Amino acid sequence: MKSEQERVGHRRFVQALQHEHLTCARPGCGGPMEVTDLTAHNARIKNFEAQCERCHGKEQITGKEEPAPQWDVASITMMAEVHLLHDQPTCPFDDTPITFTSLPNPRRKARYRLSCFYCGRHTEMNWPPPEAKR
Ligand SMILES: [Zn+2]
Ligand SMILES: [Zn+2]
Repeated sequence: MKSEQERVGHRRFVQALQHEHLTCARPGCGGPMEVTDLTAHNARIKNFEAQCERCHGKEQITGKEEPAPQWDVASITMMAEVHLLHDQPTCPFDDTPITFTSLPNPRRKARYRLSCFYCGRHTEMNWPPPEAKR
């Protein structure tokens, strides 16, 4: 069960991840915030810093790493199928939009990395996925 604080933190994380408009959470402010992605290269969870343009207050917005249990085959297949339908798959554990990154592949087959930048779960798959319906 998530606490109210975690729910709010997750909502702000998803907004930052999707480059949506964030407003300052300080009582009585509500100013627009500028979000900077401070994520280290190849980090599994993203780390944003938001700064209010009105009161200049700063806010750290980060994922919450939770590597276990890993995604099972059924949820990976489900995410691939949703992506094939040009829809946005979400992590079955925390409902965060999944990021698909295409990887260089020496055998010239499409290969993707699927990442949830909130919990840090990730996997790689050949494309199109063999499990998906054609
Ligand atoms: Zn503010
Ligand atoms: Zn996740």
